[in-house]
Amino acid sequence: MSQAGACQPPPDEDTDDCLREYRHLFSPDILAGKVAFITGGGSGIGFRIAEIFMRHGCQTIIASRSLQRVLEASKKLVAATGQRCLPLSLDVRQPQTIVAAVDEALKEFERIDILVNGAAGNFLCPASALSFNAFKTVMDIDTVGTFNTSKVLFEKCFRDHGGVIVNITATLSYRGQALQVHAGAAKAAIDAMTRHLAVEWGPSNIRVNSLAPGPITGTEGFRRLGGKFAEKANYFEMIPLHRAGNKTEIAHSVLYLASPLSSYVTGTTLVVDGGSWLTSANDFPALLGIASSSAKL
Ligand code: NAP
Repeated sequence: MSQAGACQPPPDEDTDDCLREYRHLFSPDILAGKVAFITGGGSGIGFRIAEIFMRHGCQTIIASRSLQRVLEASKKLVAATGQRCLPLSLDVRQPQTIVAAVDEALKEFERIDILVNGAAGNFLCPASALSFNAFKTVMDIDTVGTFNTSKVLFEKCFRDHGGVIVNITATLSYRGQALQVHAGAAKAAIDAMTRHLAVEWGPSNIRVNSLAPGPITGTEGFRRLGGKFAEKANYFEMIPLHRAGNKTEIAHSVLYLASPLSSYVTGTTLVVDGGSWLTSANDFPALLGIASSSAKL
């Protein structure tokens, strides 16, 4: 591979569809025989993580609130990869729905080896206009939901035979991103949780890491948080790699964290953002403009 090739994105699709072409960079059987439970696996980044895992021999459970969404996603994933994928409904804010989903999954699969906490909610809103309930809702889905799901998987699976947890977070809190106090605080708390759980659960052969994506095309996050605007305004030129990332790039990094390639990596956050948070503008007035124009839609 040329030096330039080391920074080029692999092909991707902007929609929640499987890749039309795929070239393995990792060994195709790196997750053979493994089973992964992926919250938020029916769309966006979570969908692509499920696909890339399955292309590497993994079987998956994809879970979110909308059964319809995960059902449709699982059909596409099975057709593209030939692996098993069980779609289940749960709300990560409600532990009993997680317990029921994991029990259902354990009827289909002998064990679960990997948990990806991808479920989240986000929108642009200045702190002064954010309702108490809106702040709490994001904390509940992102932070409390990550704890709930991790605890259920620990008790039902990982305590007995070890496992790997990857929490999808964000870089929002690193520089106090404008209009993102809710999501930034929620994701920072997850990064802290990653370190706490890595310490407590390491002796049980459980690795816990976070992965913090930058702006990722073809996602709800990109649409809602001003990605299109940033693209038009050439904001991505400020990123050291001069571009947004794609879902396959995130999925490849999650694959690394979930696989034996990272067998000595725990309690850390892998930032996958092309260097974005180091150099991108934290443009309060521009973001306010995006927030008010999307509120009118
Ligand atoms: P997305 O497609 O909207 O993914 C969020 C998923 O979470 C959806 O599948 C949704 O499905 C599920 N979900 C929401 N609330 C839930 C709940 N209470 N219980 C269970 N599932 C729930 O967005 P995305 O942009 O791909 O983001 C995926 C992850 O990457 C998120 O953690 C996000 O914070 C992170 N991230 C994204 C970007 C980006 O540029 N896109 C950047 C940084 C970080 P249902 O509606 O069916 O529940």
